[in-house]
Amino acid sequence: MQSRLKIYNSLSKVKENFEAINPPHVGMYVCGPTVYSDVHLGNVRTFLSFDIIYRYLMHLGFKVRYVRNITDVGHLTDDSDDGEDKIGKKARLENLEPMEIVQKYTNGFRKVMQQFNILEPSIEPSATGHILEQISLIEKLLENGLAYETGGSVYFDVNKYNEKHNYGKLSGRIIEDLIAGFRDLDGQDEKRNKADFALWKKAVKGHIMKWPSPWGIGFPGWHLECSVMSTKYLGDTFDIHGGGMDLKFPHHECEIAQCVGANGKDPVKYWIHTNMLTVNGQKMSKSLNNSFLPEELFSGNHSLLDQPYSPMTVRFFMLQSHYSSTLDFSNDALKAAAKGYKKLINGLSICHDLKYTSSEDETPSEQQQSQVDQIIANCYHAMNDDFNTARTIAQLFNLLKKINSISTGQLSGGQLGKEHFDKLIITFKTFVQDILGLLEEKPVDFESFLHILLEVYAEAKNNRQYDKVDEIRTRLKALGIVVKDMKDKIGWAYEE
Ligand code: AMP
Ligand code: ZN
Repeated sequence: MQSRLKIYNSLSKVKENFEAINPPHVGMYVCGPTVYSDVHLGNVRTFLSFDIIYRYLMHLGFKVRYVRNITDVGHLTDDSDDGEDKIGKKARLENLEPMEIVQKYTNGFRKVMQQFNILEPSIEPSATGHILEQISLIEKLLENGLAYETGGSVYFDVNKYNEKHNYGKLSGRIIEDLIAGFRDLDGQDEKRNKADFALWKKAVKGHIMKWPSPWGIGFPGWHLECSVMSTKYLGDTFDIHGGGMDLKFPHHECEIAQCVGANGKDPVKYWIHTNMLTVNGQKMSKSLNNSFLPEELFSGNHSLLDQPYSPMTVRFFMLQSHYSSTLDFSNDALKAAAKGYKKLINGLSICHDLKYTSSEDETPSEQQQSQVDQIIANCYHAMNDDFNTARTIAQLFNLLKKINSISTGQLSGGQLGKEHFDKLIITFKTFVQDILGLLEEKPVDFESFLHILLEVYAEAKNNRQYDKVDEIRTRLKALGIVVKDMKDKIGWAYEE
């Protein structure tokens, strides 16, 4: 039996202690974006952290069903049970259909995920696609006496729930403190208790996103969608649920209460929360005006940025810290990350070219072999220790030292032996590309390269080095490029 504490701890000692409910299958649910605006870099950090977890579990041989939702209704501007729907508000301001807003920002979100090489989830369900299921869950809670209807809205009865269960066990909050801390907001007078939260809200005049329900026209509370979609696709109890730390309360606390209240089962075995990306120590957030968009980062076009930074530089920068620590954005740290990233990528290109060679009289060195074994084991220890990418990267630099030594001839392939040589190369490539998801970014485009080559061509022609001129022509032709040697300039065209 799992102890309660372990259930609500993050996932430590992954390889040794992680117990999937139905091995080798793992169900993982991550709260996705609310699609009413562009994702900022803080959001990216959270989705990147779960991308690493997804990739590493797959690397370990688990078959992961990764569900990451799209919140397209029910997230109110106040984050409590008050205010306007974030998407509805944007639609009203821009005079668009809410689903146009949803489509626009979902597309934008997916594009950013691709730019950072964050893998697509297995299922990407949306809240508006699951209204019926949400209504069913509310009905169950009403049946179980844990919810009440008032004036066309339905609220979860936290006090009632607390008679048998423990509201606050995830976030460590105590219900009396919660009640004392609540501000008076609209709708509070409908609630029996200030800590109660909305399952269904009656649509007031002018509210755009609304559906019929047994309680009249309205819309679901924000916490409901995740309870419904996680259990629909992963079962009443599933392995991993994640999101940013700011979602621990009230969002995830409410999710637990809804699931336990409806199904009688704890929905989640392991909760994982990522810490915040900060700017000068403050959470990066749109409302604080200290956030920047990925596009601003790639162009360097923002007052906080000294220069542009590429997606993989940013990816590397984020992986240099553990997901549960805060990470402060700084230009210096990003510049250092750019160097670190390039070192690893140079290592990859060495790996692509490096061939195993050994002279006949060479015998492998046990010391060298055990050093390689140790570094490889350290890479796994680091990832197994709650996905510690920071320590993993440090170990990859140790592997890289060995690779560089072979490349420069200080260490010979024969000193490692074929098996260890292969292990070294494969482990390095696998960790950099598949587990950390770092792609090689081409620093210059094709045209810039061609331009340089055509300058060399022109120079050779001026110096009457016709052999060289012919060779460049021939070799480019073989690649489908024709040199256009015109009177006053040299250009190129695709071979027709
Ligand atoms: P939202 O679309 O605002 O609900 O956020 C999507 C995800 O990004 C949630 O899991 C948030 O917790 C997370 N998030 C928001 N701001 C930050 C930040 N500054 N650093 C890390 N994660 C964040
Ligand atoms: Zn959620």
